[in-house]
Amino acid sequence: MSSHLQFLRNLQQLLDEGVFVATYKHALLQSLADLAIEREPDEDGSMRLPVVTIAEKFIHYYWRQSAPYRGPDGVLRQNAGGQAAIINYVADARAEYNNLVELQHDAGEWQGLTRRVAQVIRTMPLWKLQIVAGSSNEFLYRRSEYENASIRLLPGAVRSFRDLYVIVTNFVRGAWVSQIQSIGFNRNILGDAAALPEFLFGAERSSLDRYKSILREYQRSRCFYCDKSARSGELDHFIPWSRYPVDLGHNFVFAHAGCNRDKRDFLADVDHLAKWNEENLGESGELTDAFVDAGLVQDRVRSKHVAIWAYEQGEASEAHVWMHGHDPRRLRAEWRDILIA
Ligand SMILES: [Zn+2]
Repeated sequence: MSSHLQFLRNLQQLLDEGVFVATYKHALLQSLADLAIEREPDEDGSMRLPVVTIAEKFIHYYWRQSAPYRGPDGVLRQNAGGQAAIINYVADARAEYNNLVELQHDAGEWQGLTRRVAQVIRTMPLWKLQIVAGSSNEFLYRRSEYENASIRLLPGAVRSFRDLYVIVTNFVRGAWVSQIQSIGFNRNILGDAAALPEFLFGAERSSLDRYKSILREYQRSRCFYCDKSARSGELDHFIPWSRYPVDLGHNFVFAHAGCNRDKRDFLADVDHLAKWNEENLGESGELTDAFVDAGLVQDRVRSKHVAIWAYEQGEASEAHVWMHGHDPRRLRAEWRDILIA
């Protein structure tokens, strides 16, 4: 446990005393945290991460953040000097494509953009992130282990990111919001500060409506949890948003407002998990195709890894899980047979 405490101290030091004036350090830390739970660690607990994979994460974050916050010239600065280069790259792409999925399907453009962003990451935050007060503290990855354009996230960092994901995410996002608020240029754009976190990290309303109509149709207007007919219903994050605040298609189910409310921030019990695994993560590809056609972000494999991570964490913390019509009870080990068969 003390290694986790040391990890948090190191992280706080990076955020408080690091040499960065741009939000790249926030984007980099959040990317590493996300990837640590979205991928499977190697045998020795470490994780190889190509810089282009980190670049894709940057593009996802900055895609929504490079939209104007208010008024046509209201793009927020993410750097104390001029605008951060990656924001300009992403804003240029935004002007050409309706959404990120459309851009990703234009393979040449997408690869060009990820390469340009990866180049900035290599020259800017990657080797500066872990420098504090002039000396380097390589607790996340080591310069000496950089090879084939990839870093190796150290086993201790992978473990801490996985065990402390929610804490780290709240920590980094809070610092990110403060950084943007502290940039003088943004003061004229930011009126209602309360709306800023939602703008930076929240879900886009229009996407949620499209996810919802796809899931409703896929489930034939029945509630995922009680299986009764649901004319109107809500979109529920199967792995709760409070644990993993990222919208990924396969993680959504359609459910009664009441069932959704009742589940709250619990993980679902193994019966629901088995159904979700079969219907949403199955190989048929029907759901995947529907998301792709609608230009919605999805990644079946990533969703599976996130679920494995969430149930591993649940098991380790002896979490209670929710099942429709029952009182919450201890998570049973069967989840492993379902997700890691
Ligand atoms: Zn229901």
